[in-house]
Amino acid sequence: MYDLLIKGGELIDPAQGIHEKRDIAISKGKIAALEGEIASSQAKKTIEAKGKIVTPGLIDLHVHCSPIITKLGVPPDEIGVSTGVSTIVDCGSTGYANFEGFKKFIIPQAKTDIFALLHVVPTGHAVQPENWGWYEANPEATLQTVEENRGLIKGIKMRAIGSVIEQQGVKAIKLAKKIANEAKLPLMVHFGIWIDEKTPQSQVDPFMRELLSTMDKGDIITHIYTSNLGGLIKPDGTVYPELWDAIKRGVVLDVANAIFNFSFDIARKGLEKGILPTTLSTDFANVNLNSPVVLSLVVTMSKFLALGLSLDQVIEMTTINPALTLGEEERRGSLKIGMPADISIFELAAGDFTFYDRREKTNILKGKYQLVPKLTIKSGIEIEAAPRYRD
Ligand SMILES: [Zn+2]
Repeated sequence: MYDLLIKGGELIDPAQGIHEKRDIAISKGKIAALEGEIASSQAKKTIEAKGKIVTPGLIDLHVHCSPIITKLGVPPDEIGVSTGVSTIVDCGSTGYANFEGFKKFIIPQAKTDIFALLHVVPTGHAVQPENWGWYEANPEATLQTVEENRGLIKGIKMRAIGSVIEQQGVKAIKLAKKIANEAKLPLMVHFGIWIDEKTPQSQVDPFMRELLSTMDKGDIITHIYTSNLGGLIKPDGTVYPELWDAIKRGVVLDVANAIFNFSFDIARKGLEKGILPTTLSTDFANVNLNSPVVLSLVVTMSKFLALGLSLDQVIEMTTINPALTLGEEERRGSLKIGMPADISIFELAAGDFTFYDRREKTNILKGKYQLVPKLTIKSGIEIEAAPRYRD
């Protein structure tokens, strides 16, 4: 007798190449069976999923979920399990000096699984921008924090913002890369100058080109479609030449929607050139709450449907691709038998939807579909969705 049965849904699991009607049985919090038809009599409880889309629990590779510890953080479950997302990654909100608080007071209380990328500067970008912290960077203390938290810390984070370029220059790149190499973890870099900084282009371009040359397979570029100075794709559609080699090497391209680091125009230009995202993510932080951008991973996925990607592609970019980026592909990002039963159930609502890329509402994107989360199952436990999206 199975504990739970999800019946009649359209299962999309790109990791297994499945896109068809399948019933899913769960026992002891794990996927127990995946078949065309499983009788309800074989399970203690059945969830009817006819007309719905069933996917592995989504993974948001870029959020800020360390409230109280940092000014930037949002309560994890508000952006996690209540929106169809079973795993989130806090990207550099904390560094070695405040990671312990995040680990002790926030991570264990959440139903959503949380990983972290540790910032190079001592307190991360808990306050913004984090310029001063670079003078206090301590590779030994950072590496010690990584060592003490293997399995929880999945990478190192830095932001290539104007103040870092002006005050630190390429030594910032070298320091961050050295820490990541010694930790044997990926480096995630925020591309794009902070909105109110006035760093000259002549200083930004050499820094970004050097940075791109330094990034290895598995390192992550975040905000790939920013229109800010220092972005990968320029408003005229040209790109830093080093980008192509970085893509060939296997550098991960992450979207990180946010409220001023994403542009539909730049995304269109990138997609036309074949610069596809590896991962879709939100960059959810409390400064982004209640903006017309409506941050939610399913909304970002819906934007990419409107930009021409397929449903299978956007699900791949929020399941197996981030799982691979985290080195977690054996535990999440798919619904293989024996894996933890992290599952998302959605409706693909049809209608006329309007999406915004930035807080300023400078660009509008019209879409015909919007993914609406209905139910998240985390390790076999049902959690009702409370979706954040515009009617
Ligand atoms: Zn961020």
